[in-house]
Amino acid sequence: MMHPSLVAAFFFLLGLSYCLTLPIPHEDSDEFTTEDLRFAERYLKTHYNLRSSPANIRRKNANTVAAKLREMQSFFGLEVTGILDEETYELMQQPRCGVPDVGEYNFFPRKLKWSKNNLTYRIVNYTRDLTRAEVDRAFKKAFKVWSEVTPLNFTRIRSGTADIMISFGTKEHGDFYPFDGPSGLLAHAFPPGPNFGGDAHFDDDETWSTDSRGYNLFLVAAHEFGHSLGLEHSRDPGALMFPIYTYTGNTGFLLPDDDVQGIQALYGAGGRDPHHKHPKTPEKCDENLSLDAITELRGETMIFKDRFFWRLHPQMVEAELVLIKSFWPELPNKIDAAYENPIKDHVIIFRGRKFWALNGYDIIEGYPKKIYELGFPNEMKTIDGAVHIKDTGKTLFFTGDKYWSYDEENQVMEKGYPRRIEEEFPGIGNRVDAVYQKNGYIYFFNGPLQFQYSIWSNRVVRVLKTNSMFWC
Ligand SMILES: [Zn+2]
Ligand SMILES: [Zn+2]
Repeated sequence: MMHPSLVAAFFFLLGLSYCLTLPIPHEDSDEFTTEDLRFAERYLKTHYNLRSSPANIRRKNANTVAAKLREMQSFFGLEVTGILDEETYELMQQPRCGVPDVGEYNFFPRKLKWSKNNLTYRIVNYTRDLTRAEVDRAFKKAFKVWSEVTPLNFTRIRSGTADIMISFGTKEHGDFYPFDGPSGLLAHAFPPGPNFGGDAHFDDDETWSTDSRGYNLFLVAAHEFGHSLGLEHSRDPGALMFPIYTYTGNTGFLLPDDDVQGIQALYGAGGRDPHHKHPKTPEKCDENLSLDAITELRGETMIFKDRFFWRLHPQMVEAELVLIKSFWPELPNKIDAAYENPIKDHVIIFRGRKFWALNGYDIIEGYPKKIYELGFPNEMKTIDGAVHIKDTGKTLFFTGDKYWSYDEENQVMEKGYPRRIEEEFPGIGNRVDAVYQKNGYIYFFNGPLQFQYSIWSNRVVRVLKTNSMFWC
């Protein structure tokens, strides 16, 4: 028997028909084809329980669709407009999990969980993308992610019915939740329960890997097993249970704090967690917020902190938080400094002795390079902050209690540097975490404080909290 919520959803799916009633902004109405609109409507049906039957399409559908768009925009921290705009549409196209983002609370007023701590799993079939040993290892490692932070134990069985039956399939594969060919939906899993309950299905039209190519089987499996254990999707873009796939690296996976809280709310802690620290997602209004780096990118401000950056659009109050790796998978998980060279339309990113040049979403060929190629001494290990001053064409680099000046036009480090930060920029302290310039001011960040420094009068004109960047 199918899971009751799935049975219900299945019958709603029978009522599908493609009525193109998506609210779209006027200026964008030419940009979306009929096919785009169908795709968007399908997305809302699959992930947001958008229900339309021939009876209500004529009257109410436009309102219902707008409500579902608002629900989705709110889930992902986008501007909530109820209108299909470019940003919302782009997000819909990202590869993701097939489980809906909204739970069926009507059917299940309480959380679903297993009533036992010893669970079995069985790998029913294999993908051809990997060896059997690689598949076995990926699933074993994915279960370990959850058993480390709970009292749960997972035992593999090779025949019979396990609690969690794992299989690869394509398109319609026996549960009325068809996959969709390459990309799009990657996998799905059923919440705890008998029969289909707990089972995890992987779309074998994807290319599965043990690294960054295609989709990493371990990362997707760890997410799906979260569903198998009773977790729903998280709105935290740093969480494993965030519905969109991001390759977060190949070594040293640490279950984020949000997922630890979620699973321990269901099963308790278990007392064998070998990790002291589970990565937390930064809170923009944290009183003690400090930053790693700030840069402009084509009029947008990007504010880096740990594995993330906030995107701040000039017209928008709400900053959007995203993983660095969801934009640039090749960049490291944490960066030291960043600046925009608007003449070349490049953003330069620093981490340790390496730096990368970005052109929009692309990393320019030939990078990363070493910082000594810019003229820094060989022994220099890191750069703390960097800012390009448009009026002089110079880029200032801050490291420790000193700073350097780089002539972008002639691509040389200027003579007479390094100089002491305290002497040239009195009042900002003797180190810099992050720095940017705007309208004749340089903003220096040092821990939870930022110093607004006037370039022309050479002095600090205001001291602000770092989190005032976000209007906290
Ligand atoms: Zn999911
Ligand atoms: Zn399935």
